[in-house]
Amino acid sequence: MDIDQRIAEITTRIKSAAIKARRREQDVNLVAVSKLQPDERIEAALQSGLRLFGENRVQEAQSRWAHRKNIYPNVTLHLIGPLQTNKVAEAIALFDVIETVDRPKLVEALAKLAKMGYNLPKLLVQVNTGEEAQKAGVAPRHLPALLELCADHRLKIEGLMCIPPANEEPALHFALLAKLAMRQSLPILSMGMSGDFETAIQFGATHVRVGSALFGER
Ligand SMILES: *Cc1c(COP(=O)(O)O)cnc(C)c1O
Repeated sequence: MDIDQRIAEITTRIKSAAIKARRREQDVNLVAVSKLQPDERIEAALQSGLRLFGENRVQEAQSRWAHRKNIYPNVTLHLIGPLQTNKVAEAIALFDVIETVDRPKLVEALAKLAKMGYNLPKLLVQVNTGEEAQKAGVAPRHLPALLELCADHRLKIEGLMCIPPANEEPALHFALLAKLAMRQSLPILSMGMSGDFETAIQFGATHVRVGSALFGER
């Protein structure tokens, strides 16, 4: 299957899942996860009209997207991987959305740049819904305090993101993330990947992050 066909297939599946969930198709955004994919697949996706992409590393994203963002100015780029504080300046220069705000030190680094006059991307908080030691994200019980810190620094948080544990039923994690977002009145929910995006849409995902199902194996 070529990229055109895969995009058509995933778009159809998103639409069906939205209809099943009694939601509007346009309220579910496809973030095409281009990390580790060869250039020709990225070019094919751009040729097919995709403009919303996700990358998990700042440096890799820079080499892939800095020049392409000039050629395709309407490309929107989401950072979906952990952000080190020493990469914050580079990240805000490149990304339109940072989905992985997850700790006070990072909040403070972002706030510092905002106070210096830099425009910040849209910000989401990553929640470690499975409380896995090796995974980034704030534990659900620490989310309110982190959001308060953001508010103290006048950082606007627009939504939540999660990556469920690989060996658990994702629906439980999507339901938890949706509940946390509802409680905090946060409109954006980034959840669902190649294997489970339809379930995520059922639970209210506004952004699904799909890599291998669109581009093929990495
Ligand atoms: C790689 C990645 C994805 C995409 O995963 P696929 O299973 O290939 O769809 C989604 N979200 C995050 C945070 C990722 O790192």
